[in-house]
Amino acid sequence: MKIAILPGDGIGTEIVAQAERVLAALDLRFETEHALVGGAAYEAHGHPLPEATLALAKAADAVLFGAVGDWKYDKLERALRPEQAILGLRKSLGLFANFRPAICYPELTAASSLKPELVGGLDILIIRELTGDIYFGQPRGRRSAPDGAFTGAEEAFDTMRYTRPEIERIAHVAFKAAQKRSKRLTSVDKANVLETFQFWKDVVTEVHAQYPDVALDHMYVDNAAMQLVRAPKKFDVVVTGNMFGDILSDEAAMLTGSIGMLPSASLDAHGKGLYEPSHGSAPDIAGRDLANPLATILSVAMMLRFTLNQPEAAARIEQAVQAVLASGLRTADIWAEGGTKVGTRQMGDAVVAALTTKKAITKS
Ligand code: NAD
Repeated sequence: MKIAILPGDGIGTEIVAQAERVLAALDLRFETEHALVGGAAYEAHGHPLPEATLALAKAADAVLFGAVGDWKYDKLERALRPEQAILGLRKSLGLFANFRPAICYPELTAASSLKPELVGGLDILIIRELTGDIYFGQPRGRRSAPDGAFTGAEEAFDTMRYTRPEIERIAHVAFKAAQKRSKRLTSVDKANVLETFQFWKDVVTEVHAQYPDVALDHMYVDNAAMQLVRAPKKFDVVVTGNMFGDILSDEAAMLTGSIGMLPSASLDAHGKGLYEPSHGSAPDIAGRDLANPLATILSVAMMLRFTLNQPEAAARIEQAVQAVLASGLRTADIWAEGGTKVGTRQMGDAVVAALTTKKAITKS
């Protein structure tokens, strides 16, 4: 099996380096190959997703991705901005199903912005459709308004759209995921206002007929945003469209203490996947050994489970992360009184040590 490794920009290189050390410590044999992506690729080749990088990602069984972006590229034309690389990879590889687990480890309840009783033991899974919706819908652009109260004024527009097969395939993924957990699925929409999401709701309801063992409920996105901070543990598996999923999954991230803890998987129809932390390139802390590498390390665990068929190795990584947290080691983003503050590299050292010695890590 071949893994394409695309560290990207900012903290991407620092956190992926630690994830690679963890992968190497497992003593499993994988072929790995690195390539530039994002701002780093733009600097070297004039494009954020060069042909060679895309070809490597296509040829590999799995992609381990760091993060892309830096404010210094904000003035570039949109097609050349680093973030276009991740959109291009999702589209080109057909990665339509984004899994974002939000787990609040018992040791980190104090780092959450919500009260401990609301988040302690939180374990929800947000499944976001990733290649459709208003993010990809055509037409889009700027023009002179053709009608309305401001006819002739400059306007910008995007198109929200979903086809039946796009909704059906993400619904099947979500129902199957729910079957493996508590058999509860919440579909989030805005059917009261948007035609696209009335259609979404209708199709999800139709697909539900094939999964009678799963309890399905529907929720409007504004209510879902509210319930996520009111009673997040009421959710188990949530499925939603691209834009709503983008927003809700970041909201859920904060419930867990830090976005630096959240892994993600983006899968195609055959189980091939791109694995990355849910956060961005964090230019504000890049190069300072401050980034939390655990989201990326936990993304490696998802890669082993979903694509590389190594569930035991995945569980070993997850247990090692838990052992390290239980030992009190904390990067700055999850640090609270009583913890031992460590940098990116030391956190990687601790996970590798927990994997290889299987001994409890003691505070240093
Ligand atoms: P961000 O996720 O990079 O950072 C948000 C905040 O969280 C910052 O304060 C940052 O320091 C902190 N943070 C993020 N990851 C962390 C970690 N592992 N450890 C500790 N702290 C962490 O979001 P942003 O600041 O809005 O965006 C920065 C750049 O990243 C932008 O160019 C944006 O477009 C890009 N971005 C890329 C991706 C991606 O590559 N998939 C996703 C989101 C944002």
